[in-house]
Amino acid sequence: MRLFFAIILFITAFATRAQQLRIGLFRDNNVQRVSLSYNDGSYSIFADTTDFGAILPNEFIEISWLKKGNVILRKGTVELGTFTRILILQNQTNTSIVLTPKSPSLKQRKYKDDFEVTAATKGLTIVNICDMDNYLAGVVESEGGSNRNKEYYKVQALMSRTYALKYLGKHKKEGFDLCDRVHCQAYHNMVRYSPEIDTAVQATHNLVMHDLNGNLIDAYFHANCGGQTCEPQYIWNEEIDYLSTFKDTFCIYTKQATWEKRISQKNWIDFLVNKYSYPINDSICAAMACTFDQPERLAFYLHPMFGIPLRDIRDHFDLKSTFFSCYPEGEQVVLKGRGFGHGVGLCQEGAMKMAKLGYSFDQIARYYFPNIELVDYFQDKCERQIPINF
Ligand SMILES: [Zn+2]
Ligand SMILES: [Zn+2]
Repeated sequence: MRLFFAIILFITAFATRAQQLRIGLFRDNNVQRVSLSYNDGSYSIFADTTDFGAILPNEFIEISWLKKGNVILRKGTVELGTFTRILILQNQTNTSIVLTPKSPSLKQRKYKDDFEVTAATKGLTIVNICDMDNYLAGVVESEGGSNRNKEYYKVQALMSRTYALKYLGKHKKEGFDLCDRVHCQAYHNMVRYSPEIDTAVQATHNLVMHDLNGNLIDAYFHANCGGQTCEPQYIWNEEIDYLSTFKDTFCIYTKQATWEKRISQKNWIDFLVNKYSYPINDSICAAMACTFDQPERLAFYLHPMFGIPLRDIRDHFDLKSTFFSCYPEGEQVVLKGRGFGHGVGLCQEGAMKMAKLGYSFDQIARYYFPNIELVDYFQDKCERQIPINF
């Protein structure tokens, strides 16, 4: 009977809490065995049709992959049987549990809300069935770090929510909506160190970014633009109508604003010649091969006629950005660069600076994404317009 009510409650929870997500956990590894132990509230264990009671303080369960479709459940060291699906459901709202992969042995993590464990072809599928806001808080801390200004956290929450709703179901075939890796959005824990992130997520509850056609945007971001954001076309050969290059004055004195790298002239020239047939035998071309001035962001090295995209140079030499100038010195090419990352969309260090200077999250979002609307996802087009003065 208890199981029946639990299942009804579970189904009702899905129906009424529209913003519940299924997030695949530990997707960087192929987990064969995981333990779940008490953290701050009791959880009930349901294995297929059997109710195995609660996980109490000092208790743990262990789930092992047996074969596709079958897992072995243990409570402590006692084997309870072989099942197809284990549900671990919270008995009160907003509690969390500790998950520790044992094979391979990985660092423990804590997550809120409910869990489902099943067996895929080669390993366990561990899914956190979680509230959108709890998920976003974990993502903002995993991706944005601790000790940031609350308006900055609100912008990160807004971007992460927009991403999650745009790409919901990306991993549907694997049995969840999004993974916990940077492939989707890093979700390496519930919020642990910065409770103000929860407040920031709630303050932007349901808010997302739309383009002017009413579609969720791709909220690109990077660490530092070096004083000028990059045209999306330079990176992906594609125009994005809500994004174009502009001068960002907020990030130029921050820690990742400039960089320097030295590369041997031989490697540099070999790359240009081998990959792009750079005409090194021409005396004028040979003289200019290592000298390049880029006061404003460009798409190509030296001149577009050589067809050498700066993004390829960045990838090949593992540079912090494409926004660099260079000159020869002895046997080397000296690169003086600005910024860190692809430079498209929001500049994190600039956004942090804006937040410190007192700009609101709306102003920060609209500064980096000028042609967008902030809308309530569930009340489409009820736009919260807040006037901006720059
Ligand atoms: Zn993913
Ligand atoms: Zn910037």
